[in-house]
Amino acid sequence: MKPLVAIVGRPNVGKSTLFNRLARRRIALVEDIPGVTRDRHYWDVECEGRYITIIDTGGFVPGEKDSLLQQVREQAQLAVEECDAIVFVTDARAGLTAADQEVATYLRQSGKPVVVAANKLDSESHTVQAHAAEFFRLGLGEVFPISAEHGLGVGNMMEAVVGKLPPMDDEELAAKAFAETSEDSVDELSEVEYGFQPDTDEDDEEGEGARKASDEAGDEEEEGTPEAPAEDEEEERPIRIAIIGRPNVGKSTLVNALLKEKRVVASEVPGTTRDPIDSELKYKDRQVILTDTAGIRRKKTIAHRLEKFSVVAALKSMERSDVAVLLMDATEPAVDQDAKLAGIAEEKGRALVIVVNKWDLISTDQRKQEIFREELKYALKFVHYAPIVFTSALHGSKVEKVLELAVELADQFRYRSPTPQLNRLLKHIEDNHPAPIVGRGPLRVYYMAQVGTAPPTFAITCNRPDGVPDMYKRYITNQLRKTFDIRVPIRLLFRERP
Ligand code: GDP
Ligand code: GDP
Repeated sequence: MKPLVAIVGRPNVGKSTLFNRLARRRIALVEDIPGVTRDRHYWDVECEGRYITIIDTGGFVPGEKDSLLQQVREQAQLAVEECDAIVFVTDARAGLTAADQEVATYLRQSGKPVVVAANKLDSESHTVQAHAAEFFRLGLGEVFPISAEHGLGVGNMMEAVVGKLPPMDDEELAAKAFAETSEDSVDELSEVEYGFQPDTDEDDEEGEGARKASDEAGDEEEEGTPEAPAEDEEEERPIRIAIIGRPNVGKSTLVNALLKEKRVVASEVPGTTRDPIDSELKYKDRQVILTDTAGIRRKKTIAHRLEKFSVVAALKSMERSDVAVLLMDATEPAVDQDAKLAGIAEEKGRALVIVVNKWDLISTDQRKQEIFREELKYALKFVHYAPIVFTSALHGSKVEKVLELAVELADQFRYRSPTPQLNRLLKHIEDNHPAPIVGRGPLRVYYMAQVGTAPPTFAITCNRPDGVPDMYKRYITNQLRKTFDIRVPIRLLFRERP
């Protein structure tokens, strides 16, 4: 789970400027999702060897009606409740204000690690130091003079922030190792596979060669490549499900319905760190953990009260899970917030089950359900692959179906498609859909292999990796979905032949 670092401060001190500067170091996304990447207030970034999520809390609290003090207070509360460290931004040109002091008092009491940024100090003169010194009076310890606009002092400050984070736990270490090696392992893998390929430029033989190579690579995989964990290990690993959704959609009712039906397992799960608010249950002999069912035991937190903040809670719990179960209210579906949460699941590459809850309040008419489904699919086009269930958590109807789907998707999420089959599919794609012209010549695809799971990631070797049109990418993705019945996010990487 990545640590969350919140940027807090009153309006106009330079929070978004700082955020944008930090976000420039973000980890590259494989594919941007239209409509979700715009107007973002959180990014995953690499910082001093740690992968962290930074949040511009200002972006979550527009509240024009609210007083300035109230806005800033709510931001601070959000940061304190949900984050691992806080960057408190002040405007050193304007000097210390009453709002700054009030927030500081609150942050001090929280005991969370805080770093004070005295912003807008654009030159390195000693007046800078004098301006920054004033903020020691906040009683929050060291003050870092920065210029968010010009990047001065920002590196220093972030070093201090990272220094204050809790030490990396096993999960974070594993995630870091994965992030750092996944690129390499992709290369390694394709080299191995190309070792079998005859060195020829003849078109038909090339196809043959690739297929032959894939067969052999496939054999090797069956014997167990280092990336593919042994079956038993995979079986024993608990499935983590995040129940997310706006306040009042019925999350706690659903969780309680599930827990009532299924025996709660009290035993320790080996090799997992568990949050005390996780719930465990057993489903068809599989160990399931419902992670951070935020709001259930923390009803009165600000995250529960304010809709905007369910985004932060969802971000946090999705970070640790395989599957996100997104609840929406049938009487008020697919509002912006629902779409945003679905977008985060896609972006984070998590499997997704969409649950339309409180269906008992709508209708028993089957046709109505179908119309509703079609409309919802249209509104949430970017997660068209996610199954939709209509439930009544209150009456326990279809709640088991949610669990069944979540477990099914968790397995797809970790499944590895056999290489020979993938290459037969690629051949089929080539035969049925003429490769587009890219630049001066046709695009040629040579070879496809699954290079990662969770989410399933496929590498396609081709002659012009940078020029593959989006339409062709979508076509290949859809063919993969159809052929292997994949209903979780898919990532495609295009690379050149080594
Ligand atoms: P926010 O409301 O806290 O998110 O503040 P913004 O990031 O929108 O910045 C408010 C104003 O301060 C903008 O006009 C920025 O250009 C300006 N600003 C931000 N950082 C700096 C800085 O380091 N130096 C100077 N001179 N101006 C800055
Ligand atoms: P949460 O904030 O998402 O955890 O929502 P809750 O589980 O607390 O539910 C909010 C309200 O919706 C409660 O009054 C529930 O009784 C009600 N509720 C939850 N699920 C259903 C349902 O399937 N049908 C109906 N009619 N009401 C429901």
